[in-house]
Amino acid sequence: MRYIDINSLENLDELQERLNKHRKWKLVKDDLANLSQKTCWYCEHYISGSGYAEIDHWRPKCEGQYPWLEFSIRNYIYSCKACNNKKSTNFPLVDESQRAKCESDDLSHEEPLLLNPCNKEDVRSVCYDPSGRLFGRTIKIRTKVKITKDILELDTQERLAEKQEAFCELNELLDELLLYRTDVTEVEKIIKKINYKITYKDGKRFIWSFCMYIEYWLRDNEEYFTEIPIREKIKFPQDFCEVYLGVA
Ligand SMILES: [Zn+2]
Repeated sequence: MRYIDINSLENLDELQERLNKHRKWKLVKDDLANLSQKTCWYCEHYISGSGYAEIDHWRPKCEGQYPWLEFSIRNYIYSCKACNNKKSTNFPLVDESQRAKCESDDLSHEEPLLLNPCNKEDVRSVCYDPSGRLFGRTIKIRTKVKITKDILELDTQERLAEKQEAFCELNELLDELLLYRTDVTEVEKIIKKINYKITYKDGKRFIWSFCMYIEYWLRDNEEYFTEIPIREKIKFPQDFCEVYLGVA
C-alpha cells in the first residue's frame, strides 16, 4: 500500500471547485492517477487503460451513508475495478454509534476499520510477507488489516497471483544478493535490477510494497554484507524514506 499525499496536488483547491461546479468525478481522475503513476491506491496494481480506472469513495456516497461527500476530492481513492467493486459500500467503524449522520457531524469521532492509503499512520503500520501478503506491524493495526483484506479480498488467489509472481522475482534477486554478497561487481549488477523495480520512472507496480518488503529483508540480512554498505545502495524513493522510514 502506497502513501498518497493528496495535499501534494498543487491545484487541489481548483480541482475541488471544478467538482463543486460540474459534479463529475471523472474531471479529476487523471490528476489522481498522476499521484500514483496510475497504480491503484489500495493494491498497487498498475491500471493500464483509463477505462479500467475508477474512483472509490472511501466513505461511501450512497443514501444513508455519506452522500454529502460525493464530490469531495479528499474522499476519493484512485482504484482498480476489482478494489472498487469489492470495497463497494463497506465502511465499518470500531464504534457504530460514532458514525456521522450528516454534514455537520464531526468525522474525526469515527474510527474506521478500513486502511486508508492517504493516512500516514495506516501506511506506516503495514508491511508485506515474502509472498506479497499484507500484514500489520503493530498489534493495534491487525484488526484493521484483516478487515481491509477481507473486504477487498486481497488474499484470494485470483487477486494475489500477479503480486505473488512479482514478489517471487524480487525474492530471486534478494537471494542472489546474499549468494554473491562478497562480490562487489555482482552485487552492483543485482542492486541495479532491484533499484529499477522501485523507481517511479521505471517501475510501474507494487513499488511501495517492494520497498516495505526490502526494508524488512534488510533488517534481517544486512549484517551478512560485511564488505558492502548494502542499505546505502538501495535507492528507496524520497517519499518512502520520509513517510515510512522517517528520514527527511
Ligand atoms: Zn486495486
